[in-house]
Amino acid sequence: MRRIFTVTAAAAVLGGASLLAVPAQAEEFITIGTGGQTGVYYQVGGAICKLVNRGTKDHDIKCTHTTGGSTKNINGIRAGDLDMGVAQSDWQFHAYNGTAPKQFPDGKFEELRAVFSVHAEPFTVVARADSGIKTFDDLKGKRVNIGNPGSGQRGTMEVVMEKMGWEMDDFALASELKSSEQSAALCDNKIDAMVFTVGHPNGSIKEATTSCEAILVPVNNDIIKKLAADNDYYAMATIPGGMYTGTDADTETFGVGATFVSSTATSPEVVYQIVKAVFDDIKRFRKMHPAFANLEPKDMIVNNLSAPLHEGAIRYYKEQGWM
Ligand code: GLU
Repeated sequence: MRRIFTVTAAAAVLGGASLLAVPAQAEEFITIGTGGQTGVYYQVGGAICKLVNRGTKDHDIKCTHTTGGSTKNINGIRAGDLDMGVAQSDWQFHAYNGTAPKQFPDGKFEELRAVFSVHAEPFTVVARADSGIKTFDDLKGKRVNIGNPGSGQRGTMEVVMEKMGWEMDDFALASELKSSEQSAALCDNKIDAMVFTVGHPNGSIKEATTSCEAILVPVNNDIIKKLAADNDYYAMATIPGGMYTGTDADTETFGVGATFVSSTATSPEVVYQIVKAVFDDIKRFRKMHPAFANLEPKDMIVNNLSAPLHEGAIRYYKEQGWM
């Protein structure tokens, strides 16, 4: 949390030499961790900051957002580099419960707090049409972008690989490109397939499916169905047919929910003001990205959240009679 003190009114000169000191007012800068520029997290952070910054003159909070990814964001909040962040429901769960030592080496993050949930994020596999990949099992032996460390899809891909009994060596290439780089790599024939846990529709997958021939690949074998059934933070999901060029049928996969998180280190007043900025203007928020169009506040404060709600968020939700 960075605090910068600014004087909001100039000292006034009274009756010649006597100066009246005007109290300095604190302007609070908060930073939200999001994801790659072509994903939806970046739009979530942008939308929240836009609504918050409309009210800066009332609450003195200024909001900015950075790129990153689920696990990077949560670790950034823990380190005090970020105040809030967007994270997949599976990584929120693992961070709070200390069940993913690779992603969260410091163990249980008990100060992690949920704020609200946002859109659904199907685990999305896009393959070059000429790669021969038709099902998730076909990824074995291919050149696959498994995502950059710090991203939610990278962590979730590793979970899936373990369940499938796959090692990195089972791919002809396992690249670690960022989400914003992978569509170009796919169309440049540097990889056969890419993996992205993301809300739909999104720019990166549009880019891949319109710049070259590419298809969405179902991720719905029995191992995946069992994984989704066994864990509350996963669910089976469908990406509607016709959303992307080249894929007319529905694509069945599993998915997570995007959530907005913070920690007890961020003050209840700041979280209250941010939540208020979003929910007081939820109609405007919904219009900021098609993936937000159907968001309902009563679901957003319950669904996909495993860490306790932040005190500042509870204050607003109680005021609204939602709790
Ligand atoms: N789910 C991805 C992650 O956690 C980000 C998706 C996006 O950028 O919208 O890293």
